[in-house]
Amino acid sequence: MQIEQGEHIYRKRRAEGRIATPLISIVVPAYNEAEVLDHFLKDTSAAVGPLGLPYEYIFIDDGSSDETANIIAAHLKNGLQGRLIGLARNFGKEAALTAGLAHAKGDVLVVIDADLQDPPQLIPQMIDGWRAGYDVVYGLRVDRSSDTVMKRNSAGLFYKLFNRLSDIDMPANAGDFRLIDRKVVEALLKLPERNRFMKGLFAWVGFSSMAIPYERPHRRAGYGKWNYWKLWNFAIDGLTSFTTMPLRIWFYGGALVAALSFAYAAFLIIRVMAFGIDVPGYASLMVGLLFFSGVQLLSIGMIGEYVARLFNEAKQRPIYLVQDIIEGAPNTHKTKP
Ligand code: UDP
Ligand code: MG
Repeated sequence: MQIEQGEHIYRKRRAEGRIATPLISIVVPAYNEAEVLDHFLKDTSAAVGPLGLPYEYIFIDDGSSDETANIIAAHLKNGLQGRLIGLARNFGKEAALTAGLAHAKGDVLVVIDADLQDPPQLIPQMIDGWRAGYDVVYGLRVDRSSDTVMKRNSAGLFYKLFNRLSDIDMPANAGDFRLIDRKVVEALLKLPERNRFMKGLFAWVGFSSMAIPYERPHRRAGYGKWNYWKLWNFAIDGLTSFTTMPLRIWFYGGALVAALSFAYAAFLIIRVMAFGIDVPGYASLMVGLLFFSGVQLLSIGMIGEYVARLFNEAKQRPIYLVQDIIEGAPNTHKTKP
């Protein structure tokens, strides 16, 4: 209760400090989204326009091989405000988002998918949340019926495991769709890691957050870029970036196995003393051998996961490379009047 009041006081103070006409940057990672971009721009502008606030689009072309870049460039040429950041190849959504955050100039940023699975109609509500003093306003998927049963269950399991193992609290079923204040953006950009599990990073930086529940629709056009193998690897990336618990598990596993083998040794000694020498079976030996070599390989693999991550971080390669930046109509907005 006490803490809630404290948070309330800070929020009120922040709400009073909010500028009246913030520049909104709409950050959109796009990878082969040519089919849906026109729908996206139409719906998003219809949702954001009536707010009467200045806004710009930050599109990140994540190495698309279709007309994505051309379509966006044409819109920018025809007066759309914002810019297109063309990456040198497909770096993945997490890297594209990082590029978007770095190139957005807004006082508030809205991170949104191009496929209209994140309804732009929620943006005005998010702005209201920001005006009420929240620094992060995220969309919470209450109905994931547009996902398959398998994807929903595995996602549920992942969130449980993640929150159990890591120190941070990541809200289940929150995607990347969210509004973030400039100071959250600055905090995110200060994080140097190469392995960017954005959902985890959003949760790690903290700041006072508010959820807006919504039903996640199917993508409007085009096709999704995920498959189960990619999701599995994404989950491993997320877990290993935010917890070293898997390494510790082997410590306890090893202790348990050692304890059991001591007990078994004691049992064998007592049996020999009581009943005389007896040659034990080949089967139990083989099972033990195979089992423990399996356990050892698993644990080496687990350590390998972390070593691989250290290797990637140590190389210090940039998270993304920009190939082109196309500027849209000049921004007439002044941040501080
Ligand atoms: N995306 C991207 N780079 C990629 C894959 C996806 O920038 O390598 C973008 C994609 O264009 C879309 C968003 O990330 O705007 C979400 O992608 P998708 O719809 O495939 O994922 P899902 O909705 O299934 O999470
Ligand atoms: Mg999608």
